[in-house]
Amino acid sequence: MSASVATARTELRTVWRDGWWRRAAPIESPNHNARPDPAGVSLVVVHSISLPPGEYGGDAIERLFTNTLDWDAHPYFQSIRGLEVSAHFVIRRSGKLLQFVSCAHRAWHAGVSQWRGRDNCNDYSIGVELEGLEGERFEAAQYRQLATLLRALARRYAIEAVVGHEHVAPSRKHDPGRGFDWARLARDLRWSRTRVPFAPSATTRAAKANRPPGQ
Ligand SMILES: [Zn+2]
Repeated sequence: MSASVATARTELRTVWRDGWWRRAAPIESPNHNARPDPAGVSLVVVHSISLPPGEYGGDAIERLFTNTLDWDAHPYFQSIRGLEVSAHFVIRRSGKLLQFVSCAHRAWHAGVSQWRGRDNCNDYSIGVELEGLEGERFEAAQYRQLATLLRALARRYAIEAVVGHEHVAPSRKHDPGRGFDWARLARDLRWSRTRVPFAPSATTRAAKANRPPGQ
């Protein structure tokens, strides 16, 4: 084994422990179970969430993901009463990274979903929630943290693609929505369109730029 391979293996051991990334603040969620194939993690699903929608900075996301949200604390919470969900990671508006579920386990984030002919994306994906509102823009600090996290995940797992919840459950879900810049993410990562399939190609971007206003 070469020195660099040994160093990389040591780094993987110290940076990841049982599917928990050391650089994320851990908050354990009960909303997970076993993956049918623990070695089969191959997809990252990006979401957006804010509770109540459009309000940032409170603790309602952590409370929802740990089943400690007071459903009566806000009228909106009535509409999600009893929901038991969690992503693996949450990236706050500041870029702060939280981890709720070990990547070794199946977190309950995507629901009924399909990617490239395979059902149940939760089985083989990692869920990342960006604090935000679907359709609205996200912060530079969030893009930076997401790119750092995705690079780390791609070193640890055979990640084939990063997609949005709206792409794997198109009839039900619309997050992260039009305000999320897939081209920027692909550029930050220097990943190809195979891995960031919803990043518009250079020709699509040029066609949009040349389109007359109002079309
Ligand atoms: Zn979602």
